[in-house]
Amino acid sequence: MLAGFVFAFLNYHRNQNLLASVELFAAFVSVCIYYYVLSIHSYKKIQQLSLVYTVMFFSVMMFAFSTTGNSNSIYIWVFTIPMISYLLLGITFGFIMTFVFYSVATVLLLSNYYLNDISYEYVTIANIFFSALVFWGLSHTYEQVNVLAKDKLRKMAVYDKLTGLYNRTMLDRIFTKTLNDSQIQKNKMAFLAFDLDFFKKINDQFGHVIGDEVLIKFSNILTNKVPDNAYVFRLGGEEFAIIMSCDSDNVAKNLAETIRTKTEEIIIKQSQPLTITVSVGIAINDPEGADLAGMLKLSDKRLYQAKSQGRNKVVYL
Ligand code: GH3
Ligand code: MG
Ligand code: MG
Repeated sequence: MLAGFVFAFLNYHRNQNLLASVELFAAFVSVCIYYYVLSIHSYKKIQQLSLVYTVMFFSVMMFAFSTTGNSNSIYIWVFTIPMISYLLLGITFGFIMTFVFYSVATVLLLSNYYLNDISYEYVTIANIFFSALVFWGLSHTYEQVNVLAKDKLRKMAVYDKLTGLYNRTMLDRIFTKTLNDSQIQKNKMAFLAFDLDFFKKINDQFGHVIGDEVLIKFSNILTNKVPDNAYVFRLGGEEFAIIMSCDSDNVAKNLAETIRTKTEEIIIKQSQPLTITVSVGIAINDPEGADLAGMLKLSDKRLYQAKSQGRNKVVYL
């Protein structure tokens, strides 16, 4: 914005009226985009506006490059292309924009030298060319690292490190998604809460490493046994959950029963025999009136009943 107004003023005084008008126009559009962006919250719209802004900014820059009578220092502006492109548009569009406008700038720079019959200053051209490449390379690498880091952070926020299952933070979002699917398919919502029995004893007796091995083996049973439309979570410690949409109560009950019996079959190589069991509490609701807090509470209550009835049980009533 500021550069647009300043250069419009300077170029007007140098009698470069067309360039001054273009710059003034771009500065005004920038002000409008700036205030519009402040008032919107749609990420997609902001991205589209960023594209409009960068294309406009770089086009004005190219127009200035092609105007005769400018100082050679104008080419310094070319270095802003990769930085602005990658920062505002991300890696793919950043690459495309830099490639396109660097190419246009190269043609303009070389043709300026030719047309104005300036004796070839190879060193100047090489300076601009290679420093522009450095800016491009750095911007690209920075954005690439940024994307990887963001991806890693996103995964850390969503998945449990030990088992690779979803962690608690995803409960809300996936519950809502499954609820919508249930409504569409006229299915029921099921919430299955699992808690390994006497897990503390396993840790105390065999150590934490064995405890972790049990958690991993149990989580494998969960992921192998659930149907495609079910989601598995590690809520914390030795507590797990499944959210699913099902056409009858029996689907959820049978799944819980299968997991319960499979858990008894977990084999951990130890000197003393080691039997693992799990208790399960199930809440099943029609999608209308189903809410996460209510289903968590009900399944937890039934899980507690399973524990008090002697453990290694599925309770659904
Ligand atoms: P209950 O049958 O009543 O559920 O008894 P429990 O011993 O399973 O329940 P309790 O809540 O007393 O113990 C849970 C234990 O889980 C305590 C804790 O040391 C252990 N634990 C929590 N997270 C981890 C983990 O990531 N790895 C291991 N190895 N143990 C864990
Ligand atoms: Mg527990
Ligand atoms: Mg337990």
